[in-house]
Amino acid sequence: MHANPKALVINYEKCTGCRLCELVCSVHHHGVSNPAKSRIKVEKWEWEGLYIPMSCKQCIDAPCMNVCPVKAISRDEILSRVVVDHNLCIGCRSCVAVCPFGAMGFDPVEKKVFKCDLCDGDPKCVYFCDEKAVDYVEVSREALLRKREAAEKIAQAHRRAVELMSEI
Ligand code: SF4
Ligand code: SF4
Repeated sequence: MHANPKALVINYEKCTGCRLCELVCSVHHHGVSNPAKSRIKVEKWEWEGLYIPMSCKQCIDAPCMNVCPVKAISRDEILSRVVVDHNLCIGCRSCVAVCPFGAMGFDPVEKKVFKCDLCDGDPKCVYFCDEKAVDYVEVSREALLRKREAAEKIAQAHRRAVELMSEI
């Protein structure tokens, strides 16, 4: 295992909401320019001028990995990422339900899930983000855990805001 693995680090304060990262991701992985097929999602709060790119946090104790009934999800310690074996996936979507970051996508045609794979260690979204809101840097395990906790708080606040808006 890397002493200091590299991780996708998102600074939402720099994000302008251009969504170029979504387009680049979908083109790279699916050959189409379609944000629905992107593994990075920009949550937009237009009124507040707030844009929050969300992607897989490559959790160390990943809920998706723990819940998968056919052990299709595992950790790749070389790139410090969580990977899906699409040959094993049966499309049950349990992993989609438990991810606190909404990081699992589902392809209704293939009936398989998809998620950020860090572009095999060369994340394309990083190249195209002029604002450097998305970066791929070496981080300590402790820093990774802190960033995951912060992201979880943002995800919780986002879910709560969606609940409140649905009650209006
Ligand atoms: S898909 Fe979600 S639960 Fe699974 S490793 Fe990524 S962030 Fe964690
Ligand atoms: S959708 Fe696939 S990867 Fe996700 S829990 Fe079900 S079998 Fe596992």
